[in-house]
Amino acid sequence: MKWRIANKKHRSKYWKEYWKPYYKKNRNLVIGRVLKWQMKNRGRVLEYQRKNRIKRRKARGHHTFSEWIKKVRDHKWKCFYCGKRLTMKTLVQDHAIPLSRNGSDFIGNLLPSCARCNHDKYTKTVSEFLRERAA
Ligand SMILES: [Zn+2]
Repeated sequence: MKWRIANKKHRSKYWKEYWKPYYKKNRNLVIGRVLKWQMKNRGRVLEYQRKNRIKRRKARGHHTFSEWIKKVRDHKWKCFYCGKRLTMKTLVQDHAIPLSRNGSDFIGNLLPSCARCNHDKYTKTVSEFLRERAA
């Protein structure tokens, strides 16, 4: 048990000290590599997307498109996390509590985000993500 805690600490240290600065510096390279991998592994990507759709269908709650747009307007078409201006093209729907962690698909759990922040946030909750960014 002790070992597991130590290991977890170690992993997050690795993440903070090595991977995060690397990713920050080489973001475009990393994303480029990911896109290349996705093109080569089309089947696995489709499988992942299919699973994601099922996850979304299983999620509690629902919202309408107009509720969503109203929310985006309330946030003045700005990314909740970095404040970047968004357009219909760059707008991404972020789940404050991720669906993978039993967040709902109700409008109250949704936040406008840019693709970059949504990607960085991944399976973290809003407070976890903001804490990490502040660190
Ligand atoms: Zn952002």
